[in-house]
Amino acid sequence: MNIVLLGLPGAGKGTQAKHLSNIFDFYHLSTGEIFRRAIKNETELGKRAKKYTESGDLVPDEITIELIKKEIEKVNKRGDEGIIFDGFPRTENQAEALSDLLADFDQEIDLCIYIKVAVDELIIRLSGRRICEDCKAIYHIKFNPPAEEGICDQCGGNLYQRTDDSEEVVKNRIERNKQEMEKLLAYYEEKGVLEQVVGTGKMPEDVKEETPLVVKEYRE
Ligand code: AMP
Repeated sequence: MNIVLLGLPGAGKGTQAKHLSNIFDFYHLSTGEIFRRAIKNETELGKRAKKYTESGDLVPDEITIELIKKEIEKVNKRGDEGIIFDGFPRTENQAEALSDLLADFDQEIDLCIYIKVAVDELIIRLSGRRICEDCKAIYHIKFNPPAEEGICDQCGGNLYQRTDDSEEVVKNRIERNKQEMEKLLAYYEEKGVLEQVVGTGKMPEDVKEETPLVVKEYRE
């Protein structure tokens, strides 16, 4: 079973994907996380992706789709229950490419969960977000601050702000994503696999109660 998690930047895709992959036996595939790791490690992929991620633009499809292809091949060898796609697809073209790639393995997207959050709330969420360098735990300077400023409660690692979480870049990211989101929602709606979870005004813990229920319903 393969799942796509959709949501504008800051909707909580990463948090929910991590949660679902802990409860069920899914492989969590985050394209943003793969790019960030590659950039940090200065790999060839990182060098190609850097300028796009820093300005909040999409990395070109030829790079991103090739990356997804390799990841799907890798996961199929591992034998997980399926993949949770977090941050991919971002465009209709990517959604079609994903469908074609999965078809090569006799698979498809079985469920698409859209986490809906109002834009004003997304800007506040993202510009206050801090992430642990080591364990990737996510904090918010106002809504979920660590006990000690700049230090992760869970592992003691340093917290940092993503370069693309500054307010100006955040607005650009949301605006660009919004246009494509409508098309993606229509695409998965048409396939009959779209489910919506409302995230506006909710803490991650509240949303975490709902998403596994949606998955369970589709698994049965
Ligand atoms: P995210 O962590 O999902 O917000 O992604 C961070 C950045 O990585 C995005 O702003 C893009 O620059 C890049 N990125 C992530 N996923 C994709 C994708 N599916 N297509 C193109 N670029 C992507």
